[in-house]
Amino acid sequence: MYNNEIIKFIKNKFSEKTQIPLHEPKFFGNEKKYVLDTINSTFVSSIGSYVDRLEEMTSNYINSSRAIATVNGTSALQVALRSIGVKYGDEVITQGLTFIATANSIIYNGASPVFLDVDKDTMGLSPNAVKIFLEEFGELRGDGCYNKKTNRKISACMPMHTFGFPVHLKELLKVCNEWGIPILEDAAEALGSLYNSKKVGNFGLMGVFSFNGNKIITTGGGGLIVTNDNNLADKCKHLTTTAKTLHPYEFIHDEIGYNFRMPNINAALGCGQMENLNILLENKRKLAHEYSEYFESIGINFRKELPDTKANYWLMCLQFEDKKERDLFLKETNEENIMTRPIWQLIFKNTPYKDFQTDCQKNAIFLQDRIVNIPSNI
Ligand SMILES: *Cc1c(COP(=O)(O)O)cnc(C)c1O
Repeated sequence: MYNNEIIKFIKNKFSEKTQIPLHEPKFFGNEKKYVLDTINSTFVSSIGSYVDRLEEMTSNYINSSRAIATVNGTSALQVALRSIGVKYGDEVITQGLTFIATANSIIYNGASPVFLDVDKDTMGLSPNAVKIFLEEFGELRGDGCYNKKTNRKISACMPMHTFGFPVHLKELLKVCNEWGIPILEDAAEALGSLYNSKKVGNFGLMGVFSFNGNKIITTGGGGLIVTNDNNLADKCKHLTTTAKTLHPYEFIHDEIGYNFRMPNINAALGCGQMENLNILLENKRKLAHEYSEYFESIGINFRKELPDTKANYWLMCLQFEDKKERDLFLKETNEENIMTRPIWQLIFKNTPYKDFQTDCQKNAIFLQDRIVNIPSNI
């Protein structure tokens, strides 16, 4: 093992810091100016033009017809699922290896997650695992695909682009189309990632991004739903703004909505951040390139983007030979104030999720034992 050498390399690379973080937000553009503008105008909350501006900037960037800004990525997932028609008693296919919010958003709708395996090369939902699962348990009925084992409707499939590495979207779309299951991409980590030269988040029926402080750009806290379906977009906007009907002064609500609209002050920060996104992506790519050369030279697996994709390299990662090597690396780097973190514990190993249907999870377990995030700050 080369832990001492790696520690030296990382310390040298980030020499100005005593505690080397995984990722920090960067503000070097118009962020202050726009945020101050909302304060000076008093429009810091639910009224103001920055939300519209952020929605326009992001939909232009993603090339989706619409974008809806929300208070965080989790609420964006929750509302997107509901707008697709995920309801109490339904099931949603997702991956066992993901951040907890993916699964929580399913439960918030009264539905159950089905945890399927990931691919080793993408670390995201495996189209083949979905195919195998549906061949065994899927049944097409009049109104969609059902799980024969549970007799519940499978009303969505939610892949997640782990650390900004796109899943095999073409193959996944093919399987899901065959079974009539709409895709909601959890692209929370993948703003700026490309699949076949197109931005991820815009391949499924809907996509969701997060603007939390630890993501590639931030609004403090925030999320975004994107879609090319105007009806779904209207529905999401309606649901995130308390389902209030249009009226000059009366309060009339036609269903039970949420107060999930992004405040104007957060959107102002987001507009400033969006202007910097390309620079941030370039800098991430530069760091990934340096890491890649270095780790290649010492024979350690630095995870790189696959052909026909571009990762945003939000969080970069190493893959170790086994759990023992991984654990030693985590211990020795953290002792040296270099922040490194293992990939998530598989969702269904968390107590609230232990009773849901899963498959073999062979690749997820393999990756869980080996993947570590390393400082990706730029
Ligand atoms: C960050 C994240 C979310 C949720 O975003 P928040 O804005 O923190 O609510 C959802 N899914 C994944 C995979 C994430 O990484």
